[in-house]
Amino acid sequence: MITESLKASELHKIDPVFGQVSFDNHEQIVFCNDKDTGLKAIIGIHNTVLGPALGGTRMWKYANEWEALNDVLRLSRGMTYKSAISGLNLGGGKAVIMGDSKIDKTPEMIAKFGDYVNSLSGKYITAEDVGTTTADMDLIHTRTAHVTGISESLGGSGNPSPVTAYGVYMGMKAAAKYKFGTDNLEGKRILVQGIGHVGETLVDYITAEGAKVIITDINEARLQEIGQKYGAQIFNGEDLYSADVDIYAPCALGATINDETINKIKAHVIAGAANNQLANEIKHGQMLKDRGILYAPDFLINAGGIINVYAEIVKYDKAEAMRKTENIYNTTLEIFDFADANNITTHEAAFRIAQNRIDLRKKELAQ
Ligand code: NAD
Repeated sequence: MITESLKASELHKIDPVFGQVSFDNHEQIVFCNDKDTGLKAIIGIHNTVLGPALGGTRMWKYANEWEALNDVLRLSRGMTYKSAISGLNLGGGKAVIMGDSKIDKTPEMIAKFGDYVNSLSGKYITAEDVGTTTADMDLIHTRTAHVTGISESLGGSGNPSPVTAYGVYMGMKAAAKYKFGTDNLEGKRILVQGIGHVGETLVDYITAEGAKVIITDINEARLQEIGQKYGAQIFNGEDLYSADVDIYAPCALGATINDETINKIKAHVIAGAANNQLANEIKHGQMLKDRGILYAPDFLINAGGIINVYAEIVKYDKAEAMRKTENIYNTTLEIFDFADANNITTHEAAFRIAQNRIDLRKKELAQ
């Protein structure tokens, strides 16, 4: 057999879609190509058992198609568990547009993408993500009703980032309560990595509570701006992972907890907004547990944004969305208890509870 002579790492070249490591039983993957606008996009629909697949559209300059496919699959799977753990009647999906959002994006391209979303008749609902904006969602809205995060003037909920930040803040407080015996962050040294849309609002909340906030970002101008605005200390050490802090809040990129960083981490709590913080969910989740570092699962505590856009589908009520987001505090504590009671990692605990909800619904639907 031809496959036997190939290394496992090469198998994806023969089975490029279903054979992807990150495929993980996706229900549907849609490849979108439009010659006139230059649109090349992939929509991943991971699971629709709990409801339509909702997840943002990321525009990114991927090095190649493998990278784009892998990203959309990983992200859409993540959305399934994020919505499930948050008690939302939503499935998981995500889309990626291949290209540099600052150079390649045109209104025609985004509108065309809206046509593709529309062609799925609501099975996939889009939203904003890295590289797309509320204005892009408004444009997509001219082609389809299956879009969230549109401007408040159009009846939407606008930018979800402040609500995401509130949820991260709630998750962080719950983790502090579990680890330090109090959810009061006053005096706690908190390192926020990435002070973008979510990171800045998080800095605002924790500064107001009296935390000693340390910030880091690759954008020097932004560092100076946020440092001055909130009186936050700018990290200036050699290696941020070995920083002597109580809480580490990853709010930039995923996979920052990996083989190279994990043994250096001095923080007692990890609670941040970034998606897919653990490079390897099982291995690194276990290593954190073994080292006594309390990890607040990312897909649980960064769900404020999806809670907010979900509210838009039902009937947008900001107060209700904030109340539901506040409940991330209680859910986080429940997950920590469940993890302890079962001697499993906090990531595994959150994952099992989410999967259980999906399985129960699947059984109901089969009856
Ligand atoms: P953003 O693009 O506004 O901000 C990201 C910030 O991280 C930028 O300031 C950027 O300069 C900085 N950054 C990039 N690489 C870095 C690095 N190596 N070290 C330090 N800083 C770096 O993004 P955002 O909307 O604030 O989202 C932050 C994270 O949270 C992302 O991982 C995103 O996927 C996740 N997230 C966001 C939302 C939301 O509602 N915006 C919801 C869920 C999850």
